[in-house]
Amino acid sequence: MNNLKLEEMTWPEIETALENGYRTVIICAASIEQHGPHLAQLADSAIGEVSAVDLARRLGNALVAPVIRPGLSSHHMPLPGSLTLRPEIFTGLVEDYVTCYKTHGFKNIVLISSHGGNFETLDTIAVDLRSKYADLKIVTGLPLDKLMELLGKMEQEENLPPGTCGGHACDYETSVMLALYPQHVRTDQAKPGYTGRPTREMLNRLYKEGVTTISPTGVIGDPGRASAERGSRYFEMVQAAIHEAVKTALADNS
Ligand SMILES: [Zn+2]
Repeated sequence: MNNLKLEEMTWPEIETALENGYRTVIICAASIEQHGPHLAQLADSAIGEVSAVDLARRLGNALVAPVIRPGLSSHHMPLPGSLTLRPEIFTGLVEDYVTCYKTHGFKNIVLISSHGGNFETLDTIAVDLRSKYADLKIVTGLPLDKLMELLGKMEQEENLPPGTCGGHACDYETSVMLALYPQHVRTDQAKPGYTGRPTREMLNRLYKEGVTTISPTGVIGDPGRASAERGSRYFEMVQAAIHEAVKTALADNS
């Protein structure tokens, strides 16, 4: 099938896909939030959609739900433009997506996030939904700590100083955006933000007191050397890891 995005399909096309075994739906929770002076607020939503469609292609029998664009971003509110949902609204939104797709006959639900702030709540939602819908297989993607490990590995492979891929509007996100949507990158504004180690104290401050207490520009990492070419390599590495994690979780029958 060419188009795997449910919102761009008609109901007869979806019905046919279901009959042909497309029983897996990928729901990506993203964000609309500040990404420094150089990246548009849609970065996580834009990357998340491409990532979900790529994952669907790798899985082979999956369709992609409309991306949940605003997420849990209270720590980005100090800078203008960010949206954040109340946790109960976010949870309700994900649960309602799942209930609708269950009604339509999907059997496997893949919950992924392109935004760090959503991971913990998404895990809790998955646990709750598993006890609610015993007949559905509900899995989550690559855990956040594994993704952060991967960013560290990518820095090493690319011979970049530690902290370059800090995880927010960093070399990783900026390079991927240059590869996918260069019109949303203001390259001349890409300057280093917080490039220290992500200690527990730093993360507590980030989530409790807001991103500007760590980095006045809202950047965590150094986007100054970002390139589209490296963005394609990063994307491939992250997608391979997400695919492996999801494939393994879907195959696990315990
Ligand atoms: Zn982001």
